[in-house]
Amino acid sequence: MTSIFVRYFIKLFIICFLVFYPQTSFCKKTYEEKRESMVQWQIKDRGIDDKTILDAMSTVPRHLFVPKLYRSAAYSDRPLPIGYGQTISQPYIVALMTEFLKLEKDDKVLEVGTGSGYQASILSEITDSVYTIEIVEKLYDRTDKMLKTSGYEKIHTKCADGYFGWEEFAPFEAIIVTCAAEFVPPPLIAQLKIGGRMCIPVGPLFSVQNLLLITKKSETDIETKVITSVRFVPLVRE
Ligand code: SAH
Repeated sequence: MTSIFVRYFIKLFIICFLVFYPQTSFCKKTYEEKRESMVQWQIKDRGIDDKTILDAMSTVPRHLFVPKLYRSAAYSDRPLPIGYGQTISQPYIVALMTEFLKLEKDDKVLEVGTGSGYQASILSEITDSVYTIEIVEKLYDRTDKMLKTSGYEKIHTKCADGYFGWEEFAPFEAIIVTCAAEFVPPPLIAQLKIGGRMCIPVGPLFSVQNLLLITKKSETDIETKVITSVRFVPLVRE
């Protein structure tokens, strides 16, 4: 009889150990450790070796840009919901799009689709002149407040339809669009500097799109290359 109880308690102990031990802070990775793993396995190992981008991805605390509910998954290899039906992109896509912009320290870059502010913060680790536009007012308010209180106050933000770009500060050396358009918005081409690069997902909404790299060779000559297939939330119009 006693041995049945002993065996029962041993089994119970083993089950409790297996269930609860992985959740103790002792064996949990810190956010810094998760971030370093993310940079190694998701970014470097997939061929992105630009040091400024790797440093930026190692610096920006991605977990602060996702809702509390998803913090533990902030460094996983996928996009995550950020509220209002929108998503923060997969870390690799953020790094890949940034790489294609070939940013220099003095470049002025425009982002269409601020969302959580994560991509804008990565850009601001590389250049001081980041302009970002968000169309959803409540998301804009939340992110703007967050950026202003977490060390990213130098990012210029605006709540508007990014289809029209940001004329006042044009031309831009680089433009990044983080929502999918059915065609490349002409005002964005117009606001790109000659020699400038634009990275934009183009294709049918709510489906697979082509991530395009557009280089403005002259006022009349645009070079377009397909980078890869992606799935972004749509660029909506006012
Ligand atoms: N770059 C963001 C993720 C973008 S999700 C990040 O790092 O978190 C795409 C964002 O584009 C959403 O927030 C959506 O509201 C916004 N958006 C969609 N259409 C837009 C438009 N016409 N102008 C500006 N923002 C737009």
